[in-house]
Amino acid sequence: MSLTSLGASEIRSLVAAKEVKAEEVVRAFLEQIERRELEVAAFLSVEGEKALEQAKALDRKKDKGCLAGVPIAVKDNILIKGMRATCGSRILENYVAPYSASAVEKLAAEDAIFIGKTNLDEFAMGSSTENSAFFVTRNPWDLSRVPGGSSGGSAAAVAAGEAAAALGSDTGGSVRQPAAFCGVVGLKPTYGRVSRYGLVAYASSLDQIGPLTKTVEDCALLTQVISGPDGRDSTLADRPVPDFSKEMKEKLGPFKAAHLKEKLIEKIDPEVKNIYWKTLNSLQDLGGELIEMDFPSWEYALPCYYIIAPSEASSNLARYDGVRYGYRHPEYSNLREMYLKTRTSGFGEEVKRRILLGTFALSSGYYDAYYLKAGRTRQLVSREFDRAFAEVDYIVTPTAPEPAFPVGAKKDPIAMYLSDMFTVSANLAGCPAISVPCGWSREGLPVGLQVIGNHFQEGRLFQLAFLLEKKVKFGNNRNIINWKEER
Ligand code: GLN
Repeated sequence: MSLTSLGASEIRSLVAAKEVKAEEVVRAFLEQIERRELEVAAFLSVEGEKALEQAKALDRKKDKGCLAGVPIAVKDNILIKGMRATCGSRILENYVAPYSASAVEKLAAEDAIFIGKTNLDEFAMGSSTENSAFFVTRNPWDLSRVPGGSSGGSAAAVAAGEAAAALGSDTGGSVRQPAAFCGVVGLKPTYGRVSRYGLVAYASSLDQIGPLTKTVEDCALLTQVISGPDGRDSTLADRPVPDFSKEMKEKLGPFKAAHLKEKLIEKIDPEVKNIYWKTLNSLQDLGGELIEMDFPSWEYALPCYYIIAPSEASSNLARYDGVRYGYRHPEYSNLREMYLKTRTSGFGEEVKRRILLGTFALSSGYYDAYYLKAGRTRQLVSREFDRAFAEVDYIVTPTAPEPAFPVGAKKDPIAMYLSDMFTVSANLAGCPAISVPCGWSREGLPVGLQVIGNHFQEGRLFQLAFLLEKKVKFGNNRNIINWKEER
């Protein structure tokens, strides 16, 4: 088996046991990047030399961390000191990060190796990675299709064996949906579990950094490392981080899971629905009691999200004014004109749409009708989750309403927004949610199951996801290289 087909836990075991050198690992992944990048285009920048340097230094080190030698790809809206952080936007095209995100520092402290920065929808706004200002990333399972988004580059890199694991960010589903589209595992942690320090803000009350990995075990390991207080994000919960890898392996016992009433999944792709039903049966086999539940606010979660997220974005993106960061338009005769030209040419269409939507929703006269109402709706969604979790341990849904769609298929922004119909609720309520591969469409595209848990119950999510992964045996064909070779 080639090194690039291995996940984070396997690699660090080999490196720790000195069976392979970190340098060999990094070289193998860089070769794989060279082989696959022309087709997949997952990376905005590859940091081969830095990664090799890091690896060589690590090979000389005595006590190695728990991610020793693991090549990790990082979404380009998460800062790594000295590397570019474009956010997929022209406005930050040449921006070099002056410091590292907390999550990145924590990974570095465990001797992970940063192999490059991955493509995304501009400022993480999108569900297909087509909104990147630079190029479109392709789904490694079918190059005519999107990898999902906005963390599409991170998901594709892991699926194509170009990185052993990756970091993404999830504001409304951007880790989980691309994970589902690319057949990898993706977690959005509880809001307040992982520091947002060094994550470029999109919608601050929803954003969380989360891992994309080949296995549930790797997901637990990475979450463990990046979680916990850092004193630099005031929304971070000051609570100890449990040993997720240990909790994952604890006996699950009987459990209760809520699934959505038929009317909420009526309109989704029939194959996805079938796979979803089959997976619910598997959950029963694992000792689950399934309870059909109505979530009356579920259908309002998406419109609510698309008021709150653009509103926060319109305020967060005000900082790109041609003065403080990145790009400035070369021709202008006064300050106003400089702002105007810089922002007009620096931002892409979707980002401008969101800024306009958000500014509108926050303007006096419309604030009560939109932003305030969305805030109240968010409360309803949250309360419904609280009520559900008083009764059940998990809420399970399909991760996305369909498998990966063809590049260019969703020109209408609303059609694109519908891709998030199952994922935004967990962000609004702040709950942790994981996407686990659970089956294949007839065309050979991966389909994911989303498992949502109560606040700070990531350990419980890993427990169930770990068992499910074994049951659906997706884990044997963890990535495209194996899968293609084995067929
Ligand atoms: N697709 C959603 C959006 O466009 C979610 C993005 C995200 O989670 N960053 O806003």
